[in-house]
Amino acid sequence: MTTTPTPPQIVIVGAGIIGLSHAVAALDAGYRVTVLEQDARAVSASIRNFGHLGFGAHGGEHGVLADEARPLWLSIAERAGVAAHRTGTLVLARDAAEREALDEARTQERFANAAALDADRTAALLGRASASPELAGLLLPGDLTVDPRTAVATIAAWVNAHERGRVRFGTAVFAAEDGRVVTARGDVFADHVIVTAGHLIGRLYPEIAEDHGIGECALQMLRVRARAIDGPGAAVLTGTSMLRYSAFSGPAIERLRAHLTETRPELLAIQANIMLTRHTDGTILIGDTHAAHRSAPPFLSETWSQIVLAEITDVLGAGPLEVLERWQGVYAQSATHGIVTTHPRPGVTAVTVTTGIGMTLGPALGARTVGALTLSLPATHS
Ligand SMILES: Cc1cc2nc3c(=O)[nH]c(=O)nc-3n(C[C@H](O)[C@H](O)[C@H](O)COP(=O)(O)OP(=O)(O)OC[C@H]3O[C@@H](n4cnc5c(N)ncnc54)[C@H](O)[C@@H]3O)c2cc1C
Repeated sequence: MTTTPTPPQIVIVGAGIIGLSHAVAALDAGYRVTVLEQDARAVSASIRNFGHLGFGAHGGEHGVLADEARPLWLSIAERAGVAAHRTGTLVLARDAAEREALDEARTQERFANAAALDADRTAALLGRASASPELAGLLLPGDLTVDPRTAVATIAAWVNAHERGRVRFGTAVFAAEDGRVVTARGDVFADHVIVTAGHLIGRLYPEIAEDHGIGECALQMLRVRARAIDGPGAAVLTGTSMLRYSAFSGPAIERLRAHLTETRPELLAIQANIMLTRHTDGTILIGDTHAAHRSAPPFLSETWSQIVLAEITDVLGAGPLEVLERWQGVYAQSATHGIVTTHPRPGVTAVTVTTGIGMTLGPALGARTVGALTLSLPATHS
């Protein structure tokens, strides 16, 4: 009688998008996978974001990862049943400095597929009844929008339903080393452990946080409804977004930075990235603001929320906005690193995205980490 060899067991700590991306990659590679999540369901950064899979706005190494991530995201979405809307992203210009920044972007290789839009087409994408002449846009056609509130839960359910996968919620991990994962529900065996704890990485491995300057970035967000705007549509980035996303660089971006510093200091003071995504239920996720902390306090500044609301009202040319919800999201942040991959103990890999684009890049990081594992798989899976 022949027995089927058992594939190695990968244990993943954290059921946010980074952990689940690793879980899907490990299942696809043929491993057995157990995901351990301390909360009853994922409630952290991965459900609090815009659901903007903004592949087109990242340059350099993040651009390479974004290009790797897009087909993987589409594959995961199709298999797991996540609605990934091919909305594209409208990068919006509302004045001369922003239009100049868009003109500069259009000359760059990263934006070869982007379409320049005149005022009428820009207004139409925004859902505005009429165009004003100062409007212009650049449409990044490859970007996707997902509902962050359901996406990770849907992927977790797919992993759990897989014959080699399972997800255990309500299972806090206290330590992992050399094949032994110590949890609140007893020890779990692993051939390899992948820790994807987001901004909580320092609780398990303080030295990773200290060595890489990882702290917390707290963001303020709102969900709103606007009269006459209904259903999914292009995500919208603005001038403040161009200052933050790495695909945008050059003299016109530096002039835009100086212009906004002079004319809109209140936006730069709260490190605003004025942007939005539109969703099937007709609501719009809007934000955001950024503040660095070692441990983020829970309090939302109403002044900051009002600044975001006023800007989005201007972007949409529609008001008043009906505010449905306000919340704070927290992600891991480092001034010196964008992604931190370390091996803190034998048999353990820790992956922490320390910039606000983990929802976009997750599947590419999962594929890279799993691809670098040197465990032996049974012949049918290798
Ligand atoms: C407001 C906001 C807006 C954003 N917008 C976007 C966007 O539109 N597009 C984009 O690409 N990115 C966006 N981001 C960034 C993105 O959300 C994050 O980079 C990404 O969600 C990080 O995923 P993660 O899995 O590392 O972290 P998390 O989602 O925080 O998941 C980590 C999980 O690990 C669990 N965990 C931690 N420690 C343990 C332990 N010891 N035992 C068991 N479980 C543990 C936690 O409970 C948590 O569920 C945004 C972030 C925020 C906060």
